[in-house]
Amino acid sequence: MRILVQKFGGTSVATPERRTQVAAKVSEAVSEGYSPVVVVSAIGRSGDPYATDTLLSLVKGIYGDVPKRELDLLMSCGEIISGAVLVTTLQSLGFEAVLLTGGQAGIITNDSFGDARIIRVEPQAILEHVENGVIVVVTGFQGGTEEGQITTLGRGGSDTTASALGVALNAEAIDIYTDVEGIMTADPRIVEDARILDTVTYTEITQLAHQGAKVIHPRAVEIAMQRNIPIRIKSTFSDAPGTLVTSMQPNMGAGTDITGDRLITGIAHTPNVTQIRVSMQDVENVRDAHKKIFKAMALADISVDFISVQPESVLYTVRDEVGDKAVQILQNMGFTPAMIPSCAKISIVGAGISGVPGVMAKMVEAMSDAGVEILQSADSHATIWILVKKENMVVAVQALHKKFQLGA
Ligand code: ADP
Ligand code: MG
Repeated sequence: MRILVQKFGGTSVATPERRTQVAAKVSEAVSEGYSPVVVVSAIGRSGDPYATDTLLSLVKGIYGDVPKRELDLLMSCGEIISGAVLVTTLQSLGFEAVLLTGGQAGIITNDSFGDARIIRVEPQAILEHVENGVIVVVTGFQGGTEEGQITTLGRGGSDTTASALGVALNAEAIDIYTDVEGIMTADPRIVEDARILDTVTYTEITQLAHQGAKVIHPRAVEIAMQRNIPIRIKSTFSDAPGTLVTSMQPNMGAGTDITGDRLITGIAHTPNVTQIRVSMQDVENVRDAHKKIFKAMALADISVDFISVQPESVLYTVRDEVGDKAVQILQNMGFTPAMIPSCAKISIVGAGISGVPGVMAKMVEAMSDAGVEILQSADSHATIWILVKKENMVVAVQALHKKFQLGA
């Protein structure tokens, strides 16, 4: 049995015409000899009638606290609706198809409603259908606890569903169908001449995804990587080959040495972050203060990023939504924090960056020429980050893309 997992995102199932295109991709897989297992997201994007955000808007901010368990039940409806519609589409074209919810498909999670972790997958129910020649459609983004409670997996959860099933079913590949023709050197919504990458490694795309490239969820990549199942990112609406994600370095045919690494894979951006600076000027015990600050953030469940601890000051970022809360906490502790809300973190990702001199210099030059102020910077072996004001985000991404000649 050659199992192929095919995941279709929200825009791919938004209209009857598009669902016909989805069915065509499933049909193609069948004619190539695969047994497809299909994962669907909720129909459409924010504002569309059955999109997850629309379902959320029925309760959020209207009735105060929404019970988490019920919130997950509400959110799980989006995928059930699109799954039922897709099964009907497939049946109308002569295929035998069945819809399974996450729980019915054997996706067992913990009970962290809203952000549940998959503990294991029991694939028997899927396999039984597959063995009978039935196309299984599984609702993405959800699972069930051991006790049978419905849970959701958090943002990007349908990608995670696809990967978990791919691993559990030992699929030949996990195909992520979306509205772009592959992983690109930057978000095509911002950079017009962003180029499609033929192949990327799990590590490269995990980095890009963690830094904000929305095209696939990083957790999904990490799961597929455990079993070395190839992921392909493709468009539902074209026959372009897409991007292949494997553990293989690009340009690493037999005899190639590792200097064949490409320097930079791509540029990612994360908007809506707040920079916080806590001066240590009038602080008596600086080391103690450093410790207390991060403990207080952790206690308040505020996740911090871009941390730079120095004798004179402590610098870090938080998401805009929790900026005021973080500052309030610091003030209550007797500090005098300064904040810059509405920033954006821009990341240059590339396995080849490590140890190559001049990358940072080029980055700084590009920002200077574009008139963009760098508020903070940091680097690790495969990523360099800068923080800029959000109003400069688009210009900064475009300038870097050009400077490093990533375009088509
Ligand atoms: P789906 O609903 O199919 O899951 P998403 O919106 O989650 O689709 O992901 C696809 C979107 O990701 C694209 O429309 C594109 O704007 C965005 N994107 C961001 N960064 C990249 C990138 N580096 N390459 C390709 N797409 C990207
Ligand atoms: Mg997505």
